[in-house]
Amino acid sequence: MGRYYIEDNEFGIVWVHTRVGMRNLRAMVKDGNVLLRVPDGASKKSVHEMIDQYRSELRVLCSKYSERKHLYHDGMKINCFGGYSITLGVQHEQPGRVEYGCNGQELYVNIPSESSFENDTVEDIVSKVIKLMVRQRAERVLVPFAEKIAAQLGLKVKKFVMGHGMSKLGHCTRSGEIQLSYYLMFLPEHLIKHVVCHELAHLTYFNHSHEFHLLTDKYDDGNERADIKELKNFKWPVKR
Ligand SMILES: [Zn+2]
Repeated sequence: MGRYYIEDNEFGIVWVHTRVGMRNLRAMVKDGNVLLRVPDGASKKSVHEMIDQYRSELRVLCSKYSERKHLYHDGMKINCFGGYSITLGVQHEQPGRVEYGCNGQELYVNIPSESSFENDTVEDIVSKVIKLMVRQRAERVLVPFAEKIAAQLGLKVKKFVMGHGMSKLGHCTRSGEIQLSYYLMFLPEHLIKHVVCHELAHLTYFNHSHEFHLLTDKYDDGNERADIKELKNFKWPVKR
């Protein structure tokens, strides 16, 4: 297997990976560049010819890639629960460094000017940094919020603790301890409330029975269905 790149007037750098035993051309877009897997022994000239032959298909691939769910862009502001916000930007001082920090509740992540928010690796790093910063701040706002809801409903909870589940946003143990994922920080307040109400209803019903849902709906001011739907379609500002 070999790897090299060629340059194309339209697509710029095109990565070429050769594979023994490969019969057909395969193309994908990675980190914004076209990547071709070609049969071993294909000459550079023939690779250029393949690109010309499949140019319109490659163009479609590239435009799909750029329309694809890029999570971030320069100047983007992500609002989180508890009055926190995260602003994304570019910094010119320190090459190669992703810098992050905060001014009070205003958090920031700045990528170095030579990199791009559209790069998959950069996207991964930014997502990780955002999660790290939000996770550190989750407990102090989520736990009081959940305690307040429980108190308003007249419910006694043994303890609220923080978790880091991505698909499991909340969890109620048999001993009556409720775990809340820091991912809740990315949700609007009414959806956090929904998750808390769901877990609070588990204090009464340790299942997902009809009665359980009736109780959740009562706690959630009749919004259970709508909230479930909204939660399902929620666009997370981090990789999950
Ligand atoms: Zn449940």
